[in-house]
Amino acid sequence: MLEQDDNIPSNEVVQDIHIKQQQQQLTKQILKQKQQRLLLLRHSYCCRFNNNRHSYDGHDHDECPVTTHCKTMKLLWYHMSSCIDHKCKISHCLSSRKILSHFKSCKYSSCSICRPVRHMIAHSDDNDSSIL
Ligand SMILES: [Zn+2]
Ligand SMILES: [Zn+2]
Ligand SMILES: [Zn+2]
Repeated sequence: MLEQDDNIPSNEVVQDIHIKQQQQQLTKQILKQKQQRLLLLRHSYCCRFNNNRHSYDGHDHDECPVTTHCKTMKLLWYHMSSCIDHKCKISHCLSSRKILSHFKSCKYSSCSICRPVRHMIAHSDDNDSSIL
């Protein structure tokens, strides 16, 4: 057994570790993107700005101060509420529906996607958690 281990070229092992680190890094990035999408979707759903309501003077100056993506996400919610296309080409539609349905049905308290999001929601000032 020991002799076999010695036969592995050392640089190959190093390369293997390097690839694993890259994959871990990538997984972390994807996780973070999904978490940010969830938080963004949740924000835009609860957000009182940019909701196509014009002010009394007729000018729409309810620009959301939190994120520039808010308006886009609101349009996405509007689209998603009626979209049943499993091959929908609208950007973020499929991925958002997927992550939302996961989040809503996820039962794992230690889920690497949902746990940090639930934590952030629980500790945010925004108490309206009716949607997510
Ligand atoms: Zn907003
Ligand atoms: Zn769609
Ligand atoms: Zn989950």
